[in-house]
Amino acid sequence: MSIKCSNCKKGITTLKFSDASVITSGKYHVPAVLITLVCPHCSQHYYTEVPAMEFIPCEMKQRQEASNEN
Ligand SMILES: [Zn+2]
Repeated sequence: MSIKCSNCKKGITTLKFSDASVITSGKYHVPAVLITLVCPHCSQHYYTEVPAMEFIPCEMKQRQEASNEN
């Protein structure tokens, strides 16, 4: 799947990380992480909120990586 920057219309294969901070989400009304990314072509900033319930324990991630190798 390819995505294009909504500002410069260039294909985005990577995004520059700009900032992440913990907030209380106005959208989800729970703690969330506000993430800001930047288009590598035109420096358009993009953000999203990831609510706390989207996060999983790191041990689960390691287990998924281990199972992917099998
Ligand atoms: Zn762009």
